[in-house]
Amino acid sequence: MATRGKKMVERVKFLMDKPDRIRNIGICAHIDHGKTTLSDNLLAGSGMISMDLAGKQLFMDFDEEEQARGITINAANVSMVHEVGGEEYLINLIDTPGHVDFGGDVTRAMRAVDGAVVVVDAVEGTMPQTETVLRQALRENVKPILFINKVDRLINELKIDKKEMPIRLGKVIDHVNKLVKGMAPKQYETWKLDAAQGTVVFGSALYKWAVSIPSMKRTGVGFNEVYDYCKEGNMKELSTKSPLHSALLDAVVHHLPTPVEAQKVRIPVIWKGDKESPVGKDLMTCNPNNNIVFMVTKILTDPHAGEVAVGRLFAGTLERGQELFVTGTANTNRVQSVAVSMGAERMEVEKIPSGNIAAVTGLRDAIVGSTGSTLREMTPFEAIKHVSEPVMTVA
Ligand code: GDP
Repeated sequence: MATRGKKMVERVKFLMDKPDRIRNIGICAHIDHGKTTLSDNLLAGSGMISMDLAGKQLFMDFDEEEQARGITINAANVSMVHEVGGEEYLINLIDTPGHVDFGGDVTRAMRAVDGAVVVVDAVEGTMPQTETVLRQALRENVKPILFINKVDRLINELKIDKKEMPIRLGKVIDHVNKLVKGMAPKQYETWKLDAAQGTVVFGSALYKWAVSIPSMKRTGVGFNEVYDYCKEGNMKELSTKSPLHSALLDAVVHHLPTPVEAQKVRIPVIWKGDKESPVGKDLMTCNPNNNIVFMVTKILTDPHAGEVAVGRLFAGTLERGQELFVTGTANTNRVQSVAVSMGAERMEVEKIPSGNIAAVTGLRDAIVGSTGSTLREMTPFEAIKHVSEPVMTVA
């Protein structure tokens, strides 16, 4: 455990400096569609928590209030390392609440990420909150991929036959695509969900397996095999042959954008300042070497560290001792520590370059939505809008 932890620190530090190896993602879903189970298993699969604990210990539900209510309230941040084609990637995962009352938190999490894994229950199909979270992602210019969860239920509960399975799954995809087309007609051309391309993954978060068309080519485990394994109740072998984290995180790495790619298309939507100004250029290019722009998306209270501002570093490099202006206040705050996540733990580091999710102490004037910057006059980001109604509103 200790060795695994230590080695992981070095790997995370190495990747933090390489934006092309970073993916900042959120998982969003209608309540009960399996977001928590999925997050746990991704963490376990990438070696960040023991595989035996996943599922038992709902990792991201750490708030007492959440546990009492049995739902996820806070958008917490965890990071993991995933290997594709011999290269390692740092996946920063922001957990988003599934309950409609906490829609504001979902939107905040969306501001920090560049890609979204939309989870839909294979049996229930898209639900009102699927629409809401998808809309929130699209209005922040966050690219979606689709995870169709609980495929085991189609086979073992609904008892559909082999031929019907792809048809049922195809209907879910069509419906999500209809939503994307309606909400974001411009992006639809490139963001259309397409199983053949690998932007749709099918699986079971509970039983820890998943397949995609690209994974089928690699592992030889296709829909036929999935069907047979489920019928036999041999989930263990299925999850060994085609593990959930491989199929899904491969799709994340291949299809969701790097911070540099994403900022080029997201900044014009979320920031209305002058793109030709020095800070505008820093934001558009995710420049680590000039102005600091750190947007706070969440404030955590830590029993030891006190208030921790978590957010997305869009430009510059954060270091301890820096004096930052916090939007809306006249004075500067001194950065006391900077940290990234390793699993669900915060790991203090000397500095964090742009494109990462950072946890900072010392920004005592920061509130959710504020920006910490080296600039006294900084055009704030667009207000984070909370959309809970399934109707098209302002652009
Ligand atoms: P969340 O509200 O989206 O976070 O959903 P949870 O992860 O808490 O899952 C809701 C329920 O669905 C729990 O009882 C899970 O055990 C169950 N569940 C999650 N994934 C699967 C799956 O792949 N198959 C089946 N059969 N049940 C699942």
